[in-house]
Amino acid sequence: MSKIVVKFGGSNLRTQQDIEHVLSVIRKYNRPLVVVVSAFYGITNMLEEMLFKAQHDHSAIGENLDVLIAKKRDMIFTLIKNKDIQNSARELLDIRIKALKRYLQGVNYIGEIPPFVSDIVMSFGERLSAAIMTALLQDRGVDCEEVTPEDMQLITDGEFGNAEVDFSASSETVRNRLSGEKTAIVPGFYGVSKEGKVTLFGRGGSDYTAASIASCINAESLDIWKDVDGFRTADPKLVAETHGIHQLTYTEAAELAYFGAKILHPRTVEPLMAQRIPVMIFNIAKTELTDRPYTIISDNGTRKDDIIKSVTYSDDFCILKLEGPGVGNKPGILAKVTREMDHKGINIKSVITSQTSINILLGLKDLQPAFQAVAGLKLTAVKTIITEDDLSVIAAVGEGLLEKHGIAVRMFGAVSRRGINMEIISVGASQVAAYFIVRRNDRDEAVKAIHAEFFNNPKDK
Ligand code: ASP
Ligand code: MG
Repeated sequence: MSKIVVKFGGSNLRTQQDIEHVLSVIRKYNRPLVVVVSAFYGITNMLEEMLFKAQHDHSAIGENLDVLIAKKRDMIFTLIKNKDIQNSARELLDIRIKALKRYLQGVNYIGEIPPFVSDIVMSFGERLSAAIMTALLQDRGVDCEEVTPEDMQLITDGEFGNAEVDFSASSETVRNRLSGEKTAIVPGFYGVSKEGKVTLFGRGGSDYTAASIASCINAESLDIWKDVDGFRTADPKLVAETHGIHQLTYTEAAELAYFGAKILHPRTVEPLMAQRIPVMIFNIAKTELTDRPYTIISDNGTRKDDIIKSVTYSDDFCILKLEGPGVGNKPGILAKVTREMDHKGINIKSVITSQTSINILLGLKDLQPAFQAVAGLKLTAVKTIITEDDLSVIAAVGEGLLEKHGIAVRMFGAVSRRGINMEIISVGASQVAAYFIVRRNDRDEAVKAIHAEFFNNPKDK
């Protein structure tokens, strides 16, 4: 029988009561699982801060670590009853915290943060939570063991901070290591390079760990537990009356995550599509029942009459504009620019061109490095390079968007009737997503306009 991979995020691991809920859900499955855990709530941010401070402030290491250790010890003492399990959990934590401390001391000594050290330090949140969750489950009588990415050889392409899994190097070892009858508790967020270096999957990367493992073992499903509903028609913080979405296709979920829906790491569905492994998203605050997913992502999408299933936004988009009278038909410009960005490790999110302007859409952190890279090329056809960062991208997503007449027109009409100027519009690049860019302060209004148009909500009109 194939296994289920179950993932719990940091927001499921905030208070002792949350942790009890997680333990109870794992027991309700009543079968061997692969459980992927994130760091306890807030720990990854804390590690990032410690790492940063350690460069120039030695005292910060001691103080911050002491707080961390005290919290974990408390948890072990109050929640674990069995003395042997308690002792070995404490020993394991001590070993890991010592190792963490040594890396931080190293950073302090050299006064900078080499990328490989950054990845190791940040992975300690998951190393601590996996050790503690394993001990807690053992204490509750669950037959389980911790299995780390090192143990199962979850091999990556070696890119620090933003790695991807090398499936041809990982599938067999992962499958073999996870084939037993014990439940495996896996620290998420990282894999190891061929040389054995820890490489992170980017923030929120435990979803991707879980998806990658699900693919390697050809899991029955990937169950992601959250403390909020799964996908909704819009961000409920922005729009008054949103609705839950119970079915999404892989492509719809991937586009929504790409354009900012914070429910999933953007690459989660990638490893699952070919094998058609469904993703089930649960809200632990509403139910602990393992057969009541809130959103199911699979091949069996249902199509809505007016197509759009959700509208989402992201503030992590900015534009590098290369202007010159002939940039659109001079051969080689785009090739030179993209090659240079590739060399510098800059990810291009999208490119939209015209005769006089090449617009390169990037993540915010890449804007200045990209500007430098292009300026350094000294391209004669490019007369001006402009950066724009006070923007948001807004996307509407639904299967059939390109096939059904008039959907994009309705979307853009609704936005422009509110007097909002769209800086750039793109339809047709994806089968299921249309998007446009607005000034940041028009973002909320634009999202509301589209939601009102397709979900007919008078409150937002
Ligand atoms: N702990 C990591 C983060 O906060 C990974 C994860 O939660 O998925 O980004
Ligand atoms: Mg997370």
